[in-house]
Amino acid sequence: MANNAGRWPQVVDHPSWCVQERCGYVVPPRLTSMLPWHRGVLCRAGNLRFGGIAVTHLIGTINEPPLVAVHTVSRACGHGLAELRLVEAWQLARHLDALLTQAGFTAQEVADDGRR
Ligand SMILES: [Zn+2]
Repeated sequence: MANNAGRWPQVVDHPSWCVQERCGYVVPPRLTSMLPWHRGVLCRAGNLRFGGIAVTHLIGTINEPPLVAVHTVSRACGHGLAELRLVEAWQLARHLDALLTQAGFTAQEVADDGRR
């Protein structure tokens, strides 16, 4: 594992949600313009062959509440990214819950492998 001490600010503690194998303080960023933020577990939903993929994870510093990064990829529209404050991510989750309710979807309809 690379030690980037000296190049980026020295980090003593990682937040509990940080995955150090993905952490910007441990792993060099792909772009030099990227901030060395802590990064959490990737959560993925969707299928690129159909409607597209949404990937979410936490990012942030030790001194501030994390943000929820929402990456989207689709063949029709390309890439997108939103970095939501926690309250905004909570609002998005409520919106998604409401849409599922409107569609008549219940979690009991999902098989163990995530298929419906
Ligand atoms: Zn970290």
